Amino acid sequence: MFLFLTNHFSLVINIFLLGSPLCFAARSTPPTFTPKQTHTTVVNQDNKWIDVSGFFYSQKGSHVLGLSKLKKYFHRFGYLPSQDYNVSHNTFDATFESAGIHYQSRLGLPVTGMLEFETVSKIMAARCGVPDFHTAQTLHATKDYVFFPGKPRWARHVPMKLTYAFSKEYLINYLKISDIKVVFKRAFGKWASVIPVSFIETDDYGFADIRIGFYSGDHGDGEPFDGVLGVLAHSFSPESGKFHLDAAETWAIDFEMEKSPVAVDLESVAIHEIGHLLGLAHSPNKEAVMYATLKPRDKKVDLALDDIQGVQALYGSNPNFTFGSLLESDISTNPAVNLRIRWFMWATLILLWFLMFM
Ligand SMILES: [Zn+2]
Ligand SMILES: [Zn+2]
Repeated sequence: MFLFLTNHFSLVINIFLLGSPLCFAARSTPPTFTPKQTHTTVVNQDNKWIDVSGFFYSQKGSHVLGLSKLKKYFHRFGYLPSQDYNVSHNTFDATFESAGIHYQSRLGLPVTGMLEFETVSKIMAARCGVPDFHTAQTLHATKDYVFFPGKPRWARHVPMKLTYAFSKEYLINYLKISDIKVVFKRAFGKWASVIPVSFIETDDYGFADIRIGFYSGDHGDGEPFDGVLGVLAHSFSPESGKFHLDAAETWAIDFEMEKSPVAVDLESVAIHEIGHLLGLAHSPNKEAVMYATLKPRDKKVDLALDDIQGVQALYGSNPNFTFGSLLESDISTNPAVNLRIRWFMWATLILLWFLMFM
């Protein structure tokens, strides 16, 4: 499930994610401040200013006001043991440090064991609420994708067909269901194009393999939604098929039409959650759609190589899919790739010139 950090930190996240100067200054430049020089204040849901600068560069042995909230966050996402550990105190102890190191590693952050700005920003950021499971990597492993414990997948006859349906009762009224269906068809199609699995919409909600609905608050599965900018959505590993979106969010299909600064791209979330439904957990690869965080008004609708390799390790490859076609589309749509190719061409030409004339 995607979420913004809940309760007191929700508006912290808003500020980081809405592109405030605080947010972009942090992302465009390395953290050069120290705790004594910087006071990063944010507003919580109660409209009270809180200062998170005390977190920065705090280390083992220190007592940090508000640290218990981070402990609860780490506990929520599987980084702190569920038993025999008191998450309500503010001491930066060895267990918390270990959780922080694990978190930095899983989110692809610099692994320092300290609460640096980048780490605190990531904790505050919008993210999926599915815990970040860890899969033991073999030595020299180059893959980032992660499966759920036990590597669950849909076990059906090949060619595999999975049906999906929308709840008639739990919908949102500011988007047309026909438009929502187009978005989901496209999202399912992204995965279907790389694995030999078809997704077919059905009206039979009760018997559909994947059941999609927009829910508010506590909706009976032990994972309550928390209103605007908390938990955004969640889905479950195979073969549950439950796909729930928080009805309190401002879901957007077209950012030209939906101007809210906290609008969340429906298709990006749909693609991410379908990855969970198929058996992928969170990847530490920031390019992957299975990366745990997503900012409001951001779109991430193209499967990365890591996503494709992960899902194909579960289901095999769609016979019509080639990595060559992926590369071609990357080159045609990715300015960074274009830039790298142009740079490479120039370097080659200069080298040839030297070889010929020097
Ligand atoms: Zn997720
Ligand atoms: Zn739910």
